[in-house]
Amino acid sequence: MTLTEKLLARAGGKMRVAPGENVWVQVDVLMTHDVCGPGTIGVFHREFGRDAKVWDASRIVIIPDHYIFTADSRSNRNVDLLREFVREQGIRWFYDVIDDPKSVWKFDAAKGQLKRQYGDAFAGVCHTALAAKGHTRPGEVLLGTDSHTCMAGAFNLFATGIGNTDAGFVMGTGKLLLKVPETMRFRLEGALPFGVMAKDAILHVIGEIGFDGATYRAMQFDGEGARSLSMDDRMTIANMAIEAGGKNGIFEFDAKTKAYVDARIRANGTRAAYEPVEADREQKFVYDKTFDLSKIEPTVAKHPDPGQRALARDCGDIALDRAYIGSCTGGKASDFLAFARVVKGKRVKIDTFGVPATPEVVRELQVFQMDGKSAWRVLEEAGVRMTENASCAACLGGPEDTFGRLNRPMNCITATNRNFPGRMGHKDSKVYLASPYTVAASALTGRITDPREHLPSS
Ligand code: SF4
Repeated sequence: MTLTEKLLARAGGKMRVAPGENVWVQVDVLMTHDVCGPGTIGVFHREFGRDAKVWDASRIVIIPDHYIFTADSRSNRNVDLLREFVREQGIRWFYDVIDDPKSVWKFDAAKGQLKRQYGDAFAGVCHTALAAKGHTRPGEVLLGTDSHTCMAGAFNLFATGIGNTDAGFVMGTGKLLLKVPETMRFRLEGALPFGVMAKDAILHVIGEIGFDGATYRAMQFDGEGARSLSMDDRMTIANMAIEAGGKNGIFEFDAKTKAYVDARIRANGTRAAYEPVEADREQKFVYDKTFDLSKIEPTVAKHPDPGQRALARDCGDIALDRAYIGSCTGGKASDFLAFARVVKGKRVKIDTFGVPATPEVVRELQVFQMDGKSAWRVLEEAGVRMTENASCAACLGGPEDTFGRLNRPMNCITATNRNFPGRMGHKDSKVYLASPYTVAASALTGRITDPREHLPSS
């Protein structure tokens, strides 16, 4: 069996499963956020009763992160609905925006968008936060009301996005009927070359198979090249499995996985026991292809979908109005540090917005030194508008006052993961997906730019 089949067999209490088979799986973690949480709670109450209790309050993780730093009162209210449910159900893992559980959330627009407006429990973008807070345990099944839940597959989990109705059912029962997907194997060899990031690798792969090329299939990344990647790199790749239609993305477990997961579990006091799955000698794939990471070049996905692959060096005629770095995919500390390496000591030519994925990333950037200056300061001095309000921000457009939102038609290059029309705001905008290196180099020139021309060689 493949990694995904083994995970689903275990979660279904079976010795074996095969693609196409429907299996009732026991869920280990259910995650929801401010956009889908209220709807999920509504389904749960409607189907199980107003006084019903969730199946296991210790296995539900609630992370407000999407439409948070906005004066839109309905969005603010959504966070309050989550808090009321958490109180009613005794849910422990709630990463609230405010510290006082009896208060209500209200974004203060008068304070501006840049300075922190959250309490100590706030965790930022759900997928990055799940990993950072020790909720991504190898060998488990993690479902979330968000399509990029597949990011947790970097940690050897079966992780996938589900709708509010399914999530309401899981809340009540802890189970879900899932069809076992076929597995596509992406065998990675070599190592990423100078100026190339994991984002380029996944854009290359999606360009190869198309933005629907893995529809309802597992995307398994393995081989020596996969093992050479950092956990942040693996998260970037697994995150974008859904951009090819994938049911889930998955990596093997190794010493890097263990070190990352164990440290987060220790730091946050989450459940310590886990049991990874290993690949069988005999695995059946519906697609099996080797990709040499060392041959990949800086890559862009052009408007209007993540499968529109082009090389950055061939896109120099595309003029840009805006650059954006942030999101679960591209808002990790390593993404910002890569960006900072390119822009250090220079000035961006176009409006450039930086939104860290989590408060932890904010802290890391404010502490990490680059030639005697914090990385945060390097970015600000280069003209990047950095906000401490870690969240999804303009990755998903959001209300009109959302930081970085495309409120008029414009061309934007971004380190985020999705570029369908309207995704970041205005429906007539054109969004180009790229690595933090490429976004940074393009911010310097105002055109899509190959970062190798702008990166220091050491
Ligand atoms: S950062 Fe973007 S892709 Fe990630 S969870 Fe938020 S809206 Fe979705």
